[in-house]
Amino acid sequence: MKTKRSLISIIIPCYNEYDNVDPFYKSLTNAISDSSYEYEFIYVNDGSLDKTLQKLHTLAKKDRRIRILNLSRNFGKEVATTAGIHHANGDALIIIDADGQHPAELIPAFIRKWEQGAKVVVGIRATNQNEGVVKRYGSKLFYRLFNSIATTKLVPGTTDFRLIDRVVKHEFARMTERNRITRGLVDWLGFKQEYIVFHANSRIAGTAGYSFSKLFSLALNSFVSLSLKPLYLSFYIGLVILPASVALAFGSGLEMLLHDPLHLHITGTAYLVMLVLFLLGMVLISQGITALYLSHIYTETQNRPLYIIDSENSLGIGATRP
Ligand code: UDP
Ligand code: MG
Repeated sequence: MKTKRSLISIIIPCYNEYDNVDPFYKSLTNAISDSSYEYEFIYVNDGSLDKTLQKLHTLAKKDRRIRILNLSRNFGKEVATTAGIHHANGDALIIIDADGQHPAELIPAFIRKWEQGAKVVVGIRATNQNEGVVKRYGSKLFYRLFNSIATTKLVPGTTDFRLIDRVVKHEFARMTERNRITRGLVDWLGFKQEYIVFHANSRIAGTAGYSFSKLFSLALNSFVSLSLKPLYLSFYIGLVILPASVALAFGSGLEMLLHDPLHLHITGTAYLVMLVLFLLGMVLISQGITALYLSHIYTETQNRPLYIIDSENSLGIGATRP
């Protein structure tokens, strides 16, 4: 069982969060002030363009629980989170956003569920009324589409605000793929999951680093990395097209034979154009899908490291602080 001195790692990916570092740190330390566990705060600076890194180093002078992983450039939140997970020493790891949108005061509730035996505790976001229509309906559509085609199911509203036990961390570390969506991989791992519903706050400061195009490519990536079904899509489309084109040929033949009873005056050329355009569209779609998978295979076979740590500007990567 958990001893009172178990270590809990808090992993905080940061990209241009200069204005949020201090307020977030305050809410974090408030949230755990009564806790009897030991803590380490792993800030992952994901190639911020502002002075986030300097701010983190200043903060670290006051608090020895802080460790800083400075990535050599922006690798994206999924990889930044992964780097934090890899370097954490805790018996439990909690991943939380740096912008204050994930309420830190819920951390004790996450820990309680872990104490009761959950290996993964997932924060579920109650619908946010302030969110843009595109984002809200976009995410609804994503979950519906995803769950209808993927073998690993995603629960709508689940976020990266989650706790994982060290056992789960250990298994997570074995997954080497480059195109990754952290929560998808954690879900794939299984283990006993518990949920905590929370209302997302507004960002303390700044704007979300995830633009619409970034979110779109994230959705696309998770389709490809967690499901092979899109590869078969062209086969199914072909299955529909084949009888359809036969029916079309039969219908037009009949029209011709019966001297155009519907007065459609459809010329043979028109049919041909329709057919060619249709088939061209299909071919392009299936080629596109294949290219998508190929590009994933390509990046996987390059076998580059997932991230690069700029160790000179990091603090305590070797687990202990100097
Ligand atoms: N983030 C990151 N790298 C990026 C983009 C974002 O580490 O390329 C961090 C960011 O600092 C924040 C978290 O990931 O702590 C969530 O990002 P953001 O608030 O931009 O996105 P949201 O999920 O709230 O739309
Ligand atoms: Mg945010």
